[in-house]
Amino acid sequence: MTESPSVAFIGLGIMGSRMAMNLQKAGFELTVYNRTKSKADALLAAGAHWADSPAEAVRDADVVITMLAHPQAVEKAALGEDGFLDALPEGALWLDSSTVNPAFSKRMAGAAKERGVRFLDAPVAGTKAPAENAELIFFVGGESEDIDGAEPLLSVMGKKTVHVGAHGMGSALKLVVNYMLGTSMLAFAEGAVFGQTLGLSEEVIFNTLIGGPLVPAYLGLKRSSLEAGDYEPSFPLKWLHKDLQMVSEAAYAANADVPVAELSKSLYGLAAGAGHGDEDFGAIYADLKAKAGL
Ligand code: NAP
Repeated sequence: MTESPSVAFIGLGIMGSRMAMNLQKAGFELTVYNRTKSKADALLAAGAHWADSPAEAVRDADVVITMLAHPQAVEKAALGEDGFLDALPEGALWLDSSTVNPAFSKRMAGAAKERGVRFLDAPVAGTKAPAENAELIFFVGGESEDIDGAEPLLSVMGKKTVHVGAHGMGSALKLVVNYMLGTSMLAFAEGAVFGQTLGLSEEVIFNTLIGGPLVPAYLGLKRSSLEAGDYEPSFPLKWLHKDLQMVSEAAYAANADVPVAELSKSLYGLAAGAGHGDEDFGAIYADLKAKAGL
């Protein structure tokens, strides 16, 4: 890879827009594409170039980074009409940071290889604020030398890179992490609602649990928004529902059972159906409270 690679960034949602801005600020030659063009406004004002399609975005790229909602969106951008994979220069690197399932990452690695393109699955731990502050953690699957080559970009967007293993292993670890995120939030929300139905105050329950050994540390960061009922999305609930669906699919493919994930997936799905899909995943608490008549 050249000293200062030319980068194409596809997918400028909550996460992608912030990751791309950090690349732009670091001085990389950046071309961006997003289905909804207006989300590129800040990047274009900061000097990034706009492309009208994924294919156009990668014409001169050394690296393309995708940060898209789900496997279908990634596949469309890569292999659909005006997809980027046939347009990438040979030897280029594709880094997919979207949360997808391991089988999909392996399939994309194969599709890339057929075209002489190197591939890394590189999903991230961390949400809106860590994306903005370049504090993401990358879970990467692929060849060590490709990861080393990508490090100048990864270190501008994140604080740590974990080489998990071969293609698909970055995505596998990400699914384990989001399994834990989804089920722990649900257990906390249900416990807190249960306590209130017994007559305990939310304050007593939160004071007892949050910051203690029984619940994850991230709930400390969520406390004020849960109390205020403010569910502006950092991590949209519908994408957690999608991730639990992928946990279910990956488990089925591995002949494994994940009954807690299955149940959690259904409960997040019901919350999405009740109108909470575009809100932060903490809105599962609001959904359970409403169902309990609180
Ligand atoms: P987001 O704000 O909803 O952005 C989703 C992106 O995917 C946007 O660029 C969107 O384009 C695009 N997209 C969605 N459906 C599409 C379709 N059918 N065709 C083409 N493009 C489509 O979500 P996000 O929070 O940034 O998440 C992006 C990825 O990162 C997801 O895989 C998510 O699971 C993962 N992730 C999120 C977080 C988090 O805390 N938010 C943390 C770690 C990982 P438009 O702008 O046109 O809608």
